[in-house]
Amino acid sequence: MKIGILSQMPRCYSTVRLRDEIKSRGHKVRIIDPAKCYMNITSSDPKVYLKGKEIKGYDCIIPRIGANITYYGCAVLRQFQVMGVFTPNPSIAITRSRDKLRSLQLLSSKGVGLPVTGYARNPGDSDHLINLVGGAPLVIKLLEGTQGKGVVLAGTKKVAESLVDAFASLSANILVQEFVKEAEGADIRCLVVGNRVVAAMMRQAPEGEFRSNLHQGATGVPIKLTPKERATAVKASKTMGLAVSGVDIMRSAHGPVVLEVNSSPGLEGIERVSEKNVAGMIIEYIEKEVAEIKGSGRKRKRRE
Ligand code: ADP
Repeated sequence: MKIGILSQMPRCYSTVRLRDEIKSRGHKVRIIDPAKCYMNITSSDPKVYLKGKEIKGYDCIIPRIGANITYYGCAVLRQFQVMGVFTPNPSIAITRSRDKLRSLQLLSSKGVGLPVTGYARNPGDSDHLINLVGGAPLVIKLLEGTQGKGVVLAGTKKVAESLVDAFASLSANILVQEFVKEAEGADIRCLVVGNRVVAAMMRQAPEGEFRSNLHQGATGVPIKLTPKERATAVKASKTMGLAVSGVDIMRSAHGPVVLEVNSSPGLEGIERVSEKNVAGMIIEYIEKEVAEIKGSGRKRKRRE
């Protein structure tokens, strides 16, 4: 097989691991910077170019598109899809998962467990918004935040009201969410490949912190998932249309609740903590899918 990794970070752990696994399994690999690609959009013969040369003959593109280039990166990926190239995570699914509100709305429509959540921009009635999610303490999230930045805990109703009003005055889009206190500062990262959770770790926030992002100093430990947690992670990933994803789950009093579905999950923490060859399992999944497509002689459906 000839596999392209769509990434602007050729030296980051996840890209290197995927590249090495592809090579060690006897395939060809190239890391393609999506920002440097350009395309011709024609109905008869769509192509992707880089530095004057056509990028062709690929069996699969693995997207590792950074949040800073979602729009253009997804356009390049879509072009490969239009050309009939297989990808585990289609462009539309990545776009979906990058929008926190859209993701939550979609997950809720499929009955996936979620923290009780309100959404607002300029409510004018912060009291009602806060009551909708069960009152204080509650969590307020800036819609555009990542890595735990822009996620704040309001301990009292007064603080919650001040924060909602402050964000409203900045015209920021916010999510107001029930505080899952019983999770005690821990969440679970589930690495989903196809229909399986292939690795999982619990991330525990340091003392005095409720956010369990590794970037906020949390530590990862191995964990055994319950069947319900596994099923929730797989359903969340499927609902988003992703075959490879990192699903973040919290253990709440009303069962597992999904916080987020990440379309480019980092591999370093999860491989280290779980001691599993996650990159290898991703490539194994791709091998099966591509073989099936080739075997059945059908071209990948042009979805977009
Ligand atoms: P980001 O996308 O910035 O990582 P998250 O929604 O994943 O934002 O939140 C960051 C962290 O904050 C989570 O990993 C979790 O530990 C904590 N957290 C988020 N939402 C809640 C909640 N509703 N209740 C308790 N803790 C939460």
